Amino acid sequence: RRKWNKMVKVLEELEESCATPVGRLKQVVDAMAVEMHAGLASEGGSKLKMLLTYVDKLPNGSEKGTYYALDLGGTNFRVLRVHLGGQRSAILGQDIERQPIPQHLMTSTSKDLFDFIASSLKDFIEKEGNVLEQASPRRRELGFTFSFPVKQSSVSSGVLMKWTKGFAIEDTIGKDVSECLQLAMSRKGLNVRVAALINDTVGTLALGHYNDEDTVAAVIIGTGTNACYLERADAIIKCQGLLTTSGGMVVNMEWGNFWSSHLPRTSYDNDLDVASPNPNNQGFEKMISGMYLGDIVRRVLLRMSEESDDFRSSSSKLAIPFVLRTPLMAAMHEDDSPDLSEVAKILGEVLELPDVPVKVRKLVVKVCDVITRRAARLAAAGIVGILKKIGRDGDGGIASGKFWSERPSRMRRTVVAIEGGLYTSYTLFREYLNEAMTEILGEEVSSNVILRVMEDGSGTGAALIAAANSPSE
Ligand code: ADP
Repeated sequence: RRKWNKMVKVLEELEESCATPVGRLKQVVDAMAVEMHAGLASEGGSKLKMLLTYVDKLPNGSEKGTYYALDLGGTNFRVLRVHLGGQRSAILGQDIERQPIPQHLMTSTSKDLFDFIASSLKDFIEKEGNVLEQASPRRRELGFTFSFPVKQSSVSSGVLMKWTKGFAIEDTIGKDVSECLQLAMSRKGLNVRVAALINDTVGTLALGHYNDEDTVAAVIIGTGTNACYLERADAIIKCQGLLTTSGGMVVNMEWGNFWSSHLPRTSYDNDLDVASPNPNNQGFEKMISGMYLGDIVRRVLLRMSEESDDFRSSSSKLAIPFVLRTPLMAAMHEDDSPDLSEVAKILGEVLELPDVPVKVRKLVVKVCDVITRRAARLAAAGIVGILKKIGRDGDGGIASGKFWSERPSRMRRTVVAIEGGLYTSYTLFREYLNEAMTEILGEEVSSNVILRVMEDGSGTGAALIAAANSPSE
């Protein structure tokens, strides 16, 4: 009895410290907008890097021809070919090949990695049916999605600042990754030009904008999380006199590193951060993304297991970091069987906690709910922060005069492209995120804000940006 009460108390304290009432979410919205401003004002002015992408024209459907893309951003690597018909047509067709990056290449040399990428592209191109093409190959145009922090110097070049996600190749750091690829392709005898070097969120934004010109921002919530959006060039104060053809530029926020004292942080978050390879970094990402959610839940369950014999076994795996992957946590959360048999199965098979009573299983589900709900609601606040910065949160209209308050229906339609396993595959996460958007913005404004899923945007978008930045056919 007393032990049960102690477990319940762990849950109650968790709920309290993870609370995200709408008032608090609005503080996060404001903090995001303020930090964006600070990051644009000066280099190092904020934890948000607000990186320039030099992408100043987004594809709009007029692009025509065949373009290629390489997408390197995590464990998988993809090669794509995209056929575009112009005249606002949908994408005519595309071919994609995926393959895992051999583990040893992630810590080898720059040359080994880029040679591998170039030969994958060569194999892909050689499989093309068109014999005529191959007899007299014209130069091909390619977009390179490289989802690591890069300091860009133009739309098609940039220097790697640091590796993340398990890659560690010392001699690439400080090099222009576009040139590394260009040289490797030359070694393979490929006549291909890197027309664009982008980050995955920029690709998602490009595909979003290709499909719908009201798309102004893109968000990825998968293993990690990041966002980018279209900013006015004159608002990018740290880069005075920035000339762009459109007057705007896509800014890569690197929002995973966002931090604010308004974020509801717990001792579990703290412990996770301290144990991580990058303490004090990626604070927002550590509360939101798929890499971490399962492990926060594991930490809470471990704490509970210290309170009760009902939730303990000699072989329990709860103390092992990252044993509970986010998709398994989600499966427990979404278990709708009356006796929570899926929860029992995962607790038994993955965590080696057999025969957990139903009432304890219910507590486990509740813990998953608290952590996921907080993540989804904070992500929503982040998105509204972007909308606020660009005056699309409905507030700007009121500030700019009476006209708005008289005719609220004049709010412009605003689309945010969204991608990543958490939003696309985790139903409750998606529902909590959408619900929080409405709570923060209100019914009226949120009816004009559309979150639109972009499948494979990171790769396809790179080909589209290459098209928008190539000499037209
Ligand atoms: P990545 O971000 O690695 O490029 P994704 O966008 O597909 O790839 O995201 C994969 C991440 O999404 C996984 O790390 C996992 O944490 C999370 N994920 C995938 N499917 C689910 C699911 N059904 N429920 C919860 N999380 C999921």
